[in-house]
Amino acid sequence: MAQKTNPFENMLEQLDAAAEIAGLDKQEYITLRYPERELTVNFPVKMDDGSIRVFTGYRVQHSTLRGPAKGGIRFHPDVDMDETRALAAWMTFKCAVVDIPYGGAKGGVTVDPTGMSQGELERITRAYTAAIADFIGPEKDIPATDVNTTQQMMGWIMDTYSTLTGVYSPGVVTSKPVEAGGSLGRKEATGLGVFFVTRELAKKLDIDLATSTVAVQGFGNVGSNAAKFLYEAGAKIVAVSDVSGGIYCEDGLDIPALIEYVENNPKRVIEGYKQDGVKATDNHGILTCKCDFLVLAALENQITEEVAKEVQAKVIVEGANGPTTFAGDKVLEERGIIVSPDILTNAGGVTCSYFEWVQNLQHHYWDLETVNTNLERIMVKAFNEVYETAEQLKVPMRIAAYIVALKRLIATQKIRGIFP
Ligand code: NAD
Repeated sequence: MAQKTNPFENMLEQLDAAAEIAGLDKQEYITLRYPERELTVNFPVKMDDGSIRVFTGYRVQHSTLRGPAKGGIRFHPDVDMDETRALAAWMTFKCAVVDIPYGGAKGGVTVDPTGMSQGELERITRAYTAAIADFIGPEKDIPATDVNTTQQMMGWIMDTYSTLTGVYSPGVVTSKPVEAGGSLGRKEATGLGVFFVTRELAKKLDIDLATSTVAVQGFGNVGSNAAKFLYEAGAKIVAVSDVSGGIYCEDGLDIPALIEYVENNPKRVIEGYKQDGVKATDNHGILTCKCDFLVLAALENQITEEVAKEVQAKVIVEGANGPTTFAGDKVLEERGIIVSPDILTNAGGVTCSYFEWVQNLQHHYWDLETVNTNLERIMVKAFNEVYETAEQLKVPMRIAAYIVALKRLIATQKIRGIFP
């Protein structure tokens, strides 16, 4: 069978496979095979050199069955409708896995933000927000950060929306800076959630986290924070990569030093990092190196059928959304490599976004301990539900996660019914 790389088709294959194992009739979940609403916008922006560029942006609301649509905004040259649709659908299932009252959405702008000035990024963010302003809202659809979008940009979205509507609306977007209604802990939450899931899985698999080895693909928000928490728990982070390349160190990388290096590097990449025993490697080298846990925290379609045959990790931890193709998954399963699926593993981000939104709606703010205690409670509960379902049905954790989500979504669908 030809390799599938359309992420929306990848999502449908995962969904149908899970539904079949759960014995569901297609009629029961047919609505979830289609996004509810899709918007494409083309908007002009004045660039620093005086020229006008027209950018294309998307916002897809996959489902509002269990609550307002929720999902991040990506700035990347490969952003298109198929990718946005898939990411929106994964948000629906993710929110249902952790049982928070949201549907799923995603947005994006087809742009390479590398080298753009803060002024250009601000004008792109504000123009995109204005173009989708009727579509979003604190009770309708709530964006957040994703690849190449920052907390500062979320601040601009909140300001643009509040200015256009004339109503102070911090709840229209999450992952804002704390000074603009953001939640304590949000920046680290996805990485911390990845850590909680990895820790729980390690216990079940009898792997001692403190003596385990880890490789991390992608060293942005999710990858660097996941690496930090795993490093603090004693794990040896032997390999890290980002868009600039990869590094390998048998004795383990000094993660706090690497984070500091990247933060102070104008390009915000690991390229040029120096430490005794560090060797250069490439993306393929990271994905196929020998380690206990391979944390994927970059983009979709990284573990293809071919790559899956060469993976040497015992466990794949999906911090990114959709990093394993459907065909890649099959090979991993045959080879006995365990996959901790994206819709569970990286749900810490949206869970903390939910806390931020609750705080915004109540204008009452929590301390960090309250945030992290609630995050741990929700992530551990979701992990146990998925793991137990996988054990009971003897299926991979991804199928189990979809089954947990589908059961919740279908239960709500039955009560709400079909209008008219
Ligand atoms: P980010 O922009 O902060 O970081 C992305 C990282 O991936 C960067 O280090 C970049 O250099 C690296 N990268 C890009 N292309 C690469 C390649 N070809 N090979 C190796 N590295 C590459 O983005 P992020 O927010 O950390 O998101 C990473 C993934 O996690 C995405 O799939 C995103 O959808 C998912 N995610 C993010 C959040 C969140 O809260 N930020 C929540 C859930 C899921």
